[in-house]
Amino acid sequence: RGKKTVERVTQLMNKPENIRNIGIVAHIDHGKTTMSDNLLAGAGIISEDLAGKACWMDSDEEEQARGITIDASNVSMVHEYEGKEYLINMIDTPGHVDFGGDVTRAMRAVDGAVVLVDAVEGTMPQTETVLRQALKERVKPVLFINKVDRLINELQVDEMEMQIRLGKVIDKVNKLIKGMNEEMYNNGWKLDAAQGTVAFGSALYNWAISVPYMKKSGISFKNVYDHCKAGEMKELAKKSPLCDVILDMVVTFLPNPLEAQKRRVGVIWHGDINSPEGKGMYNCDPNAPSCMMVTDISFDPHAGEVATGRLFGGKLKRGDEVYVMQSAKKVNRLQQVGIFMGPTRVEVPELFAGNIAAVTGLKDAVVGSTVSSLMDMTPFESLEHYSEPVVTVAVEAKNMKDLPKLVEVLRQVAKEDPTLRVNINEETGEHLIAGMGELHLEIVTGRIKRDKNVEIVTSEPIVVYRETIVNKLDSAVEGKSPNRHNRFYFMLEPMPDHVVELIKNHEISMNQEQLERRDAMVKAGFEKDEAKNVKDIYGTNMLLDMTKGIQYLNETMELIIEGIHEALDGGPLADEPVQNLLMKLVDVKLHEDAIHRGPAQVIPAVRSAIKAGLLLGNDSLLEPMQKLHITVPQDYMGGATAQIQSRRGQVFDMTSEGDTITVVGKAPVAELFGFAGDVRSATEGRAMWNQEFAGFELVPAGMVKDVVIEIRKRKGLKEEMPKASDYLA
Ligand code: GDP
Repeated sequence: RGKKTVERVTQLMNKPENIRNIGIVAHIDHGKTTMSDNLLAGAGIISEDLAGKACWMDSDEEEQARGITIDASNVSMVHEYEGKEYLINMIDTPGHVDFGGDVTRAMRAVDGAVVLVDAVEGTMPQTETVLRQALKERVKPVLFINKVDRLINELQVDEMEMQIRLGKVIDKVNKLIKGMNEEMYNNGWKLDAAQGTVAFGSALYNWAISVPYMKKSGISFKNVYDHCKAGEMKELAKKSPLCDVILDMVVTFLPNPLEAQKRRVGVIWHGDINSPEGKGMYNCDPNAPSCMMVTDISFDPHAGEVATGRLFGGKLKRGDEVYVMQSAKKVNRLQQVGIFMGPTRVEVPELFAGNIAAVTGLKDAVVGSTVSSLMDMTPFESLEHYSEPVVTVAVEAKNMKDLPKLVEVLRQVAKEDPTLRVNINEETGEHLIAGMGELHLEIVTGRIKRDKNVEIVTSEPIVVYRETIVNKLDSAVEGKSPNRHNRFYFMLEPMPDHVVELIKNHEISMNQEQLERRDAMVKAGFEKDEAKNVKDIYGTNMLLDMTKGIQYLNETMELIIEGIHEALDGGPLADEPVQNLLMKLVDVKLHEDAIHRGPAQVIPAVRSAIKAGLLLGNDSLLEPMQKLHITVPQDYMGGATAQIQSRRGQVFDMTSEGDTITVVGKAPVAELFGFAGDVRSATEGRAMWNQEFAGFELVPAGMVKDVVIEIRKRKGLKEEMPKASDYLA
């Protein structure tokens, strides 16, 4: 059966109208793993006996031990609908909040998403987050309401009540879609059970139902209800199999790559749509230049690094020479070109636009890379991360002899998981890994120990802060070069919030054509001569060149930008990254002789000007916040709110449903270590809770000094508050 599937898959790969690239997205525990397993079993990829038991997609031991899905892995299957065969490429996505980054990259690779919601629990915060990620990438949603058997058999709701409850879930998801993207909502993305974009059922017992399937099979809502009530699950799974209902819905309502790419290319790529590569991607044309976005990198003990990604244009085959944008641009030669079928990679002679490719030989690629047969093309928009790394641990090798191996392993880990920031320090041997939460880091360090076989010692987790300017400077700050012959004058001010948002959404970016960026800047309120002189955007910081006619400035600009990056990577207060800073270069004096305005002069001059300027503008610390949702029985509400309030937190919403209440609030990450255990004991284990990154906020003024001194102490910096004059020698 396996062999046959491979043949059918390779045939279908060349027919984009018969391909669906999809992901299943859900809040944790709503049943995504169970559904994935049963779909695979139904498609003959794994045996039905194993489905539901063997956690097929959770192939990582760590995941099995914790019962959560961590890595997005891929699988292709074939589904027959109305006499035609379809190739369904499914990417698994993690359901845990700490791994939001993985969901984002999976969404880049697919065109449609099955949003899975637990019928008993309804939509949860993560449902909202993953849906937002999907819509942002213009990935079309359909809905599956799971665990309906529990409504009937545990909660004993009658038929009427059941319809009402299901209707409520649909309304809620529709409200979310409408709020996130009204245009798509009005253009056919509104979910509608009568039309067939909603199905419901039981992933566990392997049955599902939808209006089109009722018509097709003759089974009625009442039949389903009665069978379920009588516990006749096997019967139901035979009459209305999960796999058929879901995949029919996928094939009918989720777009094929030809249709989807027309909608998506303009959103995920900002190059010239009339260029050969632009047209090629728009039309999903296999004869255009090849363009692939790498969305995952894994390590295969035999083949080495395997890069997985979506091929938006052209084709790939073994031996092809391609380029990785934003790298050294040396030729990378493709070794194997294939697709994933479960854990096995199947090599294919050629792979065409619209498919999800798994290739080896891309030695310069990282997750997020744009790969092309063209030496130069506008890269894809970078992957959005709704969470940022906000917690760091220091890792050291237990044994000196493992030091080089650890460095190697850390590089691999950084490549595999782009939401991690890995800072390797070969001098001290103390390397830093920043991740999205305590649990995320526990999993990563666990993997280093186990899979990579390196014994390490890890520090307590540390919170990552940011620095930012609070006040606009009254006059320009001056930076002098060590030889005193070069001077740089900057005006600094806080970046307005709405511009920060535009930068985060890539609506203002260095990847844009200059004209497009200028227009976006003017619309955001900048003067025209500011808008056309953007020299650099770094994080949410921006450099404008407001000088006129200064000789040698152009050739010095790269060094100026380097100096700025150094200052922004570690601000003056606590050597933490700087954000939301608007810098205007207003005057420059340069030595005539190139030898006297080299890197050793320019970089330190610019760096100290920016650092001094930040301090003059009342540089302050920002701390990461987490939004918390805690659901508890009414009686435990006091315990739950106290857990938020006692952590410098704030409760801003409480809603009750039945005998439970959901408390919504937020608190600083710094106060949340050990939260899981404390909530558990405060509520005698009755709480269900989750957290979500909620951005950075200013550390309360009265605490800044203490926090700064503590960070400085930890980093081995002078244990006193820095002054602007320290940088203005
Ligand atoms: P994931 O975290 O979304 O991958 O969720 P899982 O697939 O691991 O499911 C979480 C729990 O819900 C498991 O104990 C499943 O057995 C259970 N479950 C999943 N689907 C159903 C269903 O349709 N009905 C019932 N009663 N339980 C289900």
